[in-house]
Amino acid sequence: MMRKWLCQADVNVRIEPVDSVLIKSGYATLDGADMVPVCTFINGKKTYYFPGTSLKGVLRSHLERISRTLQPNSVCIPYYDPRKQDIKIPVDGERQSHGCGFRTRGNGKDPSAAAYSDSCAACRLFGSLKFAGRFSISDAYPLEGHAAQIEQRNGVGIDRFTGGTVKGVLFDLQVLVGGIFEAKIRMFNFELWQLAALNLLLTDLQDEILQIGSGRSRGLGRVRGCVTDYRVAYAKPVNRLEGLFSLATPEEQREYGLHPWEPASAIGLGDAQQRGLRYEYVITSSWSSALASLIPAFEEFLRWHGGPKGQATHLREGA
Ligand SMILES: [Zn+2]
Repeated sequence: MMRKWLCQADVNVRIEPVDSVLIKSGYATLDGADMVPVCTFINGKKTYYFPGTSLKGVLRSHLERISRTLQPNSVCIPYYDPRKQDIKIPVDGERQSHGCGFRTRGNGKDPSAAAYSDSCAACRLFGSLKFAGRFSISDAYPLEGHAAQIEQRNGVGIDRFTGGTVKGVLFDLQVLVGGIFEAKIRMFNFELWQLAALNLLLTDLQDEILQIGSGRSRGLGRVRGCVTDYRVAYAKPVNRLEGLFSLATPEEQREYGLHPWEPASAIGLGDAQQRGLRYEYVITSSWSSALASLIPAFEEFLRWHGGPKGQATHLREGA
C-alpha cells in the first residue's frame, strides 16, 4: 500500500472480561470438555489467550454495524461472492453488496490504488481479498500474575422443533473467568476518518459494548478494554495531527481516493520524541478529548465515498 511509510498509530489496550469468555480452539482435547478455550505454551506454561484474528473479527463486524446504521449500504458483505449463486441475501438493498475483494474497476494506473479507492470503509481499514488493510491487532496474552481462571459449564442440547431438551445430548464447555489481557493495535498510513473509526471502537470497547468469542446469547463474552498507551508517529515532524491526505502527493490523493477532510481547528500533538527515523507523539492521557473533533470524519467519509464501488468480477466477465 503506497510503498511508503508516512504515519502510524499504536495503541495498547488492556482487556478485562466482564463475563466469562469462550473462544473455541476447535481442536479435540484430552481436557474432557467438548469446547475449550484457545491456549498455547509460554515458557512451558499453559497460557489461555485471545487470538488477534478473533478480536479483529469482532471489531470489524462492530464497525460494519456502525457504518450501516449511519449510512445504509455503505459497507460490503466481505464473503459475498457474486459467482456463488447459493448465497441468499435477505435484505433487498444489500443484494449488490458483493465483497470488495470480488470487485474490480481495472482502469486505474495502479491496481492496488484502484482497489483501495473502490473499497468500502471496512475493507479499507481491515482489508479484503485484494489487500491487507491498515489495521492490525496482536493476540491478547494475560499480564504477569493475571491469568484467567478456567471454569466448567454444562449445556443441554435443545430440539429445534419442539423446543424441549434432546435426550442424551449434553455438552461441556470450559470458559475463562477474570484475568487481564493486553493487545497491541497498529494502524499505518491512516486517513483521519480511519483514526476516527478506531476511536469509536476504542470508546465502545471501554463502555463494555463489545462481546468476544462463542455463546454470546448465553451471557458469555462481554469485555472491557482500556487504552494504556496511545501514540501517533510520522516520518517528518508535524505541528498538528495529520492524516494520509495531507501527507500524500496530489497524484496519490487522486489514485487512492483519499478523503480530503480536515478538523475545524488544528489538533495539537505536543512535543515529538525522535525514535530512529520516526517522530512520535504520545497522547495516552488526552486521546479521548484531544481527538473528539475527529469523530464526524467517519460519517462524512461514508457519505462522500458512497459505499463499495466497481463491478463485481462476474458482471465484468459477462459483459
Ligand atoms: Zn468492502
